[in-house]
Amino acid sequence: MRVAFLGLGIMGGPMAANLVKAGNEVAVWNRTPGKNIEGARVAESPADAARDAEVVWMCVSDTKAVEAVLFGPQGVESTIGSGAIVVDSSTISPSAELQFAERLRAKGVEYVDAPVTGSKVAAQAGSLIFMVGGDEAVLAKLEPLFQAMGKQVFRMGETSKGQAAKLVMNLQIALIYEGFAEALTLAAKLGVNVDRLLPLIQASMVKSGVVEYKAPFILKRDFTPNFPLRLMLKDIRLALDAAKEARVKLPALETVQDVYEMAAEDGHEDLDYAATLTLLEKWAGVEVKGAA
Ligand code: NAP
Repeated sequence: MRVAFLGLGIMGGPMAANLVKAGNEVAVWNRTPGKNIEGARVAESPADAARDAEVVWMCVSDTKAVEAVLFGPQGVESTIGSGAIVVDSSTISPSAELQFAERLRAKGVEYVDAPVTGSKVAAQAGSLIFMVGGDEAVLAKLEPLFQAMGKQVFRMGETSKGQAAKLVMNLQIALIYEGFAEALTLAAKLGVNVDRLLPLIQASMVKSGVVEYKAPFILKRDFTPNFPLRLMLKDIRLALDAAKEARVKLPALETVQDVYEMAAEDGHEDLDYAATLTLLEKWAGVEVKGAA
């Protein structure tokens, strides 16, 4: 298929590379020039990339970035053809996504929200999980592209329901990780060795994928970003905004938001969100260390 891929960040770069590997004709664009993908044409603008594309796939930071790419100067809207499909794998506001979709549908363009879970490692391995919102017939056309980048697709409903599900997922990741980080901090303060604690956690009903994924990085004190803290903070804010719109109270997430705000103020926003642990350590006057 002829695909335009917009946004070559931590996630977008490997996703676009996997589309090329699967034999698609790919044009890529990134706001900051200099990034390219072997085997893909580098487009001058979103408009240039979208001109002949059957599918325009986006993976950029936030709601404002998606709006700029679609409707800003040299945006997708100015060249995209009727019948083309826009797919958004960024994590953004569900209500804004719906507005973007309606504006493009007025031009005969199909629109699917397809945020992902799985982080950098899964993006590279082509084993992302997509949670999607959109028309079933349109999703069927995208099947080969989903297969090239991911291992599973969950249809959550009509457009914007993928984004809603994504916020619900990241709410849980943020709270589970916070529970793990607080447990590690208290364990360190009480003198429980983390190397002994981890097998206990994973043998019990407390076990989780979040612990499994994050523990090795924490033990190495490696906070280089797989999922940057600034993006998790963005998703916490999006979830709290959506909750407010729906008149839902989320007291634990509000507290965790404060922790992320303070970690960002401490200069950790470009580190992985696992670095929120360092704030708890600072308050407790301990450092969580493995034997290695
Ligand atoms: P990233 O590495 O920070 O990349 C962000 C991309 O967005 C870059 O290509 C950036 O371009 C572009 N961008 C930012 N603002 C823009 C604007 N105003 N106009 C055009 N392009 C703009 O982020 P990422 O980790 O790839 O994440 C991308 C999306 O996937 C986010 O919504 C994130 O929440 C979501 N996500 C990430 C993960 C993860 O583990 N990393 C997992 C699931 C979902 P420049 O190069 O010019 O800055």
